Order: sequence, then C-alpha cells, then structure tokens
Amino acid sequence: MTDPAGAVRPDAPIHDVAIVGGGAVGLLLACLLGARGRDVVVLERRTEPPPPGAPSRAIGVHPPGLKVLDHVGIGDAVRERAVVIREGRVTCEGRTLGAMRFPRSGLVRSLPQREVEALLEERLEELPDVRVRRGVEVTGLRDRGTHVVVVGTQAGAEVDVPARYVVGADGVRSGIRSLIDARWRPRGRGATYVMCDTRDDTGARETALLHFEPTGVVESFPMPGGLRRYVARVRRRPSVLDAPTVAAIVEARTGQGFDTDAAGEPTAFDARQHLAQPIAAGRVALVGDAAHEVSPIGGQGMNLGWIGAQHLSHELEAALAAGAPLDAFAAYERARRGAAIRAMRQAAFNMRMGAPVSGLRLRARNASVRMLGLAPTRALLARAFTMRWL
Ligand SMILES: Cc1cc2nc3c(=O)[nH]c(=O)nc-3n(C[C@H](O)[C@H](O)[C@H](O)COP(=O)(O)OP(=O)(O)OC[C@H]3O[C@@H](n4cnc5c(N)ncnc54)[C@H](O)[C@@H]3O)c2cc1C
Repeated sequence: MTDPAGAVRPDAPIHDVAIVGGGAVGLLLACLLGARGRDVVVLERRTEPPPPGAPSRAIGVHPPGLKVLDHVGIGDAVRERAVVIREGRVTCEGRTLGAMRFPRSGLVRSLPQREVEALLEERLEELPDVRVRRGVEVTGLRDRGTHVVVVGTQAGAEVDVPARYVVGADGVRSGIRSLIDARWRPRGRGATYVMCDTRDDTGARETALLHFEPTGVVESFPMPGGLRRYVARVRRRPSVLDAPTVAAIVEARTGQGFDTDAAGEPTAFDARQHLAQPIAAGRVALVGDAAHEVSPIGGQGMNLGWIGAQHLSHELEAALAAGAPLDAFAAYERARRGAAIRAMRQAAFNMRMGAPVSGLRLRARNASVRMLGLAPTRALLARAFTMRWL
C-alpha cells in the first residue's frame, strides 16, 4: 500500500493490527486474529524463513502451549511430528536421585521451533485477511491518535504501514520496546550453557535425562528423527566451540559422550531473565520475548509467549470492538507480568539445581532432589515442569 517513494497512499487501508516480528509468537498471534477475520499484517525483517535443518532454539512444547496451538488448528500436526517425553530422570555420579513419569494429560512434546513456525506459516496462508511481509525492518512508530503508522525499510525504500494497534513481537532485542520507552529489567543471575543436537544413542527415547553433576548439569532431551539435544552448564564459553568440545564435557561428567560425526553445529548461550516495564503503552503492546526473556533452562519462553498471544488476542478483539480505549492493555499487562514472574522463578530454580556444587552443599542439594521426587511433592513438581500452573 505504499507508493514507490514509500509514502502512505491516502487510500491506504488502516489495518486492524500490525505485528512486528514473524517468529513463533508473532505468527501465532496473527493466526488467532486472522481466524476471527481481523485484518492483520506481519512485518518480518528476515527475507526467508530458516531453512529445514537450521539450528533451532526451542524444542519443548508444554500442555498449555499445545492447547493454544489446538485453537489455531495445528495441534494435531504438532502431535504427529513431535516426540513425546513421558519421563524425567535425575542422576548424580551414576546414582538415581529421582524419576518422574508425566501423566497422560501433562506430557511434554519435543519439536523444533522452526517446524512449528513452518506449520503456523502454512496455517496463515489459509487466512485471507492476514499478510506476512518479509524483508521489512521496522525502525519507528508515529502515533496519529486514532491509529499508529509503523515505519520501516524494505530493500532500501521506506515503508509506512498504518494500523489501529501495533504489537511488538520482535524478540529479546526488541526495537519496539525501546520505541515505547519500556525499561528492560534484569531478574536474578544468569548462567552460560553449551548445546548440541546429535544422534540419540542413549536408548532412552522418551526420557529427559538430567545429570546433576558436581561440575555442573548436563541435560538431554529426545528430539524427532532419532536425535537428542544435549545442554551443559559451563563456567564460561569455551574458546573453541565444536561438537568434540561439547561431547568431551558431556563424557567427563556423565561417563558417556556422543557421536560427534552425527552432531549438528553446537551453540553457546547465556541464560538471562528480563521483564519489560511497561509491557504496553497506548496502542502498542509487547508479546513473547519482547515482553519477557525467560531462561531457556526449563524450556518455557515460547510457550509463555503463545499463552500471552492468546490473552492479547482477546484484549485486541475487545479494544477493536469498543473503539480503542487508551488503557486497552491494562489487564493484559497485569496478567502477563504475573505469569512471567512465575516462569522466571521456576527457571531460576532449575538453574540453581544444575549449578556446580561440591562437599556438604552437594549432599544437601541431592537430598532435596530426592525429597522432591517423593510421592507428596512429585505431582506438584510434574505440574511445575509441564507449566500447568499457567
Ligand atoms: C537455546 C534456547 C532454547 C530454548 N528452548 C525453549 C523450549 O524448549 N521451549 C520454550 O518454550 N522456549 C524455549 N526457548 C525460548 C524461545 O526460543 C523464545 O521464547 C521464542 O523464540 C520467542 O519467540 P518470539 O516470537 O517472541 O521471538 P523470536 O523467535 O526471537 O522472533 C522475533 C522475530 O522478530 C523479527 N524482528 C526483530 N526485529 C525486527 C524488526 N525491527 N523489524 C521486523 N522484524 C524484526 C526477528 O527476525 C524474528 O523473526 C529457548 C531459547 C533458547 C535461546
């Protein structure tokens, strides 16, 4: 709807909602709004989706996240493609500290994030009122009172997109967050991890294995296609990050490495937690990682973002129907802040449990893990690990 010079044409329609960022959360929000016949545009700076086989961040899909995917009609496709994780087992120095079977209603599924994003994009193609514009980098917002003009560039030309509401789903480094002057408040301590996906030779196809070792945790999770993801906490990023380095860390701690020839490209990441304040201002709201960064340890960020997107879709519906009160997102802000803080506490607990520890503190930590694995607390723990507190 822009002319070649990029100015807004006077007859350019005002979209109901412009979503900045076509990642897992932005695409899901577009599906939710598009299914209700809302006129939605998604502005995504990447020109192409990640290719099949590209490294994926999230793999864990929790029951509440799957429920949202059911709403947009891709839940069954996810069930078909995903591996089910039925059990979690915690060990230390070869001894089992606890084991937990997840109830049928609370199974975690493992499917790479990019595959879920591909399913969401397919779903969007069936929704006539949603358009995904790739290659658009958003750089500014202009408030026009009754609507907001989203400003960006595409192939060197300026693009202006008017919309009644704007959602920043542009990830951890959100530019929309800066544009609404939200602070990015750190919460708790961070930690560094290395991660590698490889062939699963453990023989434990449906089990999450958590090795709480004195030198730091090694976690591993089944993935589709006979693969397994290894994640190990490290004091600092290794100077050389390749599969043999990660396999050596895993082997030194657990006694069993992995086949490095079958391994994909390893990555290192700093697990940090942040919360935006505010999460919404005027006609603009943040969702997903733009609103809250939750440590990947425990695999909650994407699921939390989906649940937030569902909540936001209701608020947007109400605001569009009522004709735009400025505090449209107050309830959304309160609810998402509470949910994000709960997820961050859970993630901080997970990180503490996997920290390097020795001597008396190691024995105390192991004793508390054993206690948590006993019947009275086991069900609560299973609920917490599968995000059923949401
Ligand atoms: C190692 C790792 C493992 C993880 N595992 C899990 C897990 O198992 N389960 C789980 O629930 N979560 C997990 N997470 C978290 C999960 O990956 C994120 O929470 C999720 O990607 C957030 O999605 P999003 O759509 O909010 O942001 P993103 O996926 O980051 O998407 C943001 C999009 O916005 C686009 N964008 C950014 N700026 C602009 C701009 N200016 N203009 C236009 N477009 C822009 C980007 O190109 C991108 O496509 C993990 C994270 C990591 C790092």
